[in-house]
Amino acid sequence: MKEATDKDRTPLGIYVHIPYCLTKCPYCDFNSYGTNGNFPEDEYVLALEKEVETYRSVVEGREISTVFFGGGTPSLFNPWSIGRVMEKITSVMSLSSKAEVTLEVNPRTADKEKLVSLKNVGINRISVGIQSFSQRKLDFYGRFSTPGDCFGALADVQDAGFHNYNLDLIYGSSEETLEEFENDIHTAITFSPTHISAYCLTIEPGTEFAALRRKGKLSLPDDSVLVSFMRSAREILEGEGYGNYEISNFARRGYECRHNLIYWKCHDYLGVGAGAHSHFRSGGESGWGKRWSNVRNPELYVKQIAEDRRAVSVSYDLSRTTALEDAFLMGLRLSEGVGIEDIKRRFGCIPDAPALKHLESDGFILTDCGRLRLTVRGRVFTDELIARVCGAFH
Ligand code: SF4
Repeated sequence: MKEATDKDRTPLGIYVHIPYCLTKCPYCDFNSYGTNGNFPEDEYVLALEKEVETYRSVVEGREISTVFFGGGTPSLFNPWSIGRVMEKITSVMSLSSKAEVTLEVNPRTADKEKLVSLKNVGINRISVGIQSFSQRKLDFYGRFSTPGDCFGALADVQDAGFHNYNLDLIYGSSEETLEEFENDIHTAITFSPTHISAYCLTIEPGTEFAALRRKGKLSLPDDSVLVSFMRSAREILEGEGYGNYEISNFARRGYECRHNLIYWKCHDYLGVGAGAHSHFRSGGESGWGKRWSNVRNPELYVKQIAEDRRAVSVSYDLSRTTALEDAFLMGLRLSEGVGIEDIKRRFGCIPDAPALKHLESDGFILTDCGRLRLTVRGRVFTDELIARVCGAFH
């Protein structure tokens, strides 16, 4: 019998990208498209099925521990379509009997009946894009849902029998007060979800908000306000038994999102669908892993797959430097931080103690029990800090 290797045992996740939305939100830089409900569902599902098939030999001998249907708005699709993709995944790959299978849902795109059908095709975790329970904030974010829709969506998720679900919130809108922010957190808690994500609004290039910002038509809270929101979220949610296991993510013990942990721990994942990304930690000519992504345009994606071509548009091997940056960029997002010994072992580098002390005295990081962690202040500046942290390891 073949012995299991480390590679066989490390988690492997499948990400399925559904790029269609009803309307495009002004802050969103995901590969998603406002469609007003007109999208080629059958053709797209057929392309997903064909693409999953192409990975048969790649995942041979590995067990799939998570599947995540993200977007876009996957809940726009018929449960039967999601079932077809699930069937293909289970026929081509070895899906663990304990796999976490998540689907993102937006209010007003799935009622109780649809959610029950999704459960019947294998979805066992829901992530609901609530964003806020305040009409003012929903308007600011250009969401088409009302607070009533949000309450209704969460009631439907519960009535459909989903015990394990996440609720997404965003904070950092113009003139947002601490009270308004805390209201969202308190309201979320009344539903007792197993997981709550509270993301800080970031202005991404190419979005409608970026254009407004450039014209000086979008004022946002300054960093000190955001830090106070972050602190408050942590205090309230931890007081209610939600561990702040990642910068923006809180969960009841044992309900941390296993799929996202694959990203944060730089494990392996395969993405299928338009613009989906994949990463394998080993392989590549350099031996530091490889990464690839599909064409972003959904029409092109469907066309290439229909012509029996691969949809991959970018593919490259990771260098030691990139793999090290990734280990910090992703790992420092987690409250458990990054193990210094793990980094030394994997990358053969030595920490520069004075440089780390400097980062500590600037109030960005903490080192304890052989682990490097971000402080609340460091969490606001993660991206800017990574180069400095990497520079402290030779
Ligand atoms: S619904 Fe989600 S994916 Fe679609 S545009 Fe809005 S934020 Fe982006």
